[in-house]
Amino acid sequence: MKYVILMGAPGAGKGTQAKLLQSALGLPQISTGDLFRYNLKNQTDLGKLANTYMDKGQLVPDEVTVAMVKDRLSQTDCKNGAILDGFPRNLVQAVALDNLLAEIGGRISVVPSIHVNQDVLVERLLKRAEIEGRADDNEGTIRTRMDIYEAQTKPLMDYYQERGLFVEVNGQQPVEQVQQELIKVVQQAE
Ligand code: AMP
Repeated sequence: MKYVILMGAPGAGKGTQAKLLQSALGLPQISTGDLFRYNLKNQTDLGKLANTYMDKGQLVPDEVTVAMVKDRLSQTDCKNGAILDGFPRNLVQAVALDNLLAEIGGRISVVPSIHVNQDVLVERLLKRAEIEGRADDNEGTIRTRMDIYEAQTKPLMDYYQERGLFVEVNGQQPVEQVQQELIKVVQQAE
């Protein structure tokens, strides 16, 4: 059983790396952002609710997000582990995740974090806005998302560091190299 939390600021390459890790390690990727976007595309109540926060760059309320992750983790493909991408994003979610994993007899194996300098991040996000047309990749929401990351998500690094789970990886290397380092970090984890 290997539950991995992939951390990194918006634009650090979490989504790309999580998808690559999914095929390299045979563990499903759980991206809360992708799950919300999928729900929005299908116009579910969850998707419509989430979008009122997403389009401002704000976090979807914890109880909504945690319930969605609980549901996803209970599916059979997650019984040997999963790669969490974009969750947890604050301390409430981190504690909720510990409890959810305890319920299924699991625990977090390792928390790799992809580190990229702030100016490179903004540049990447603006480029992604042009290519993918993601509605929340514009200058206003990018700033909000960065602020939320600094204030709420970054403190989780200490939370996991104190438990000896945190490992930083240099995200300003070619995608393939970042991937190789991540694979090594996950394979070495118990
Ligand atoms: P992402 O694709 O991870 O950048 O997420 C896009 C947006 O989805 C975020 O800006 C939030 O509005 C929402 N979102 C994704 N994950 C979470 C989470 N763990 N908690 C709350 N909101 C989230």
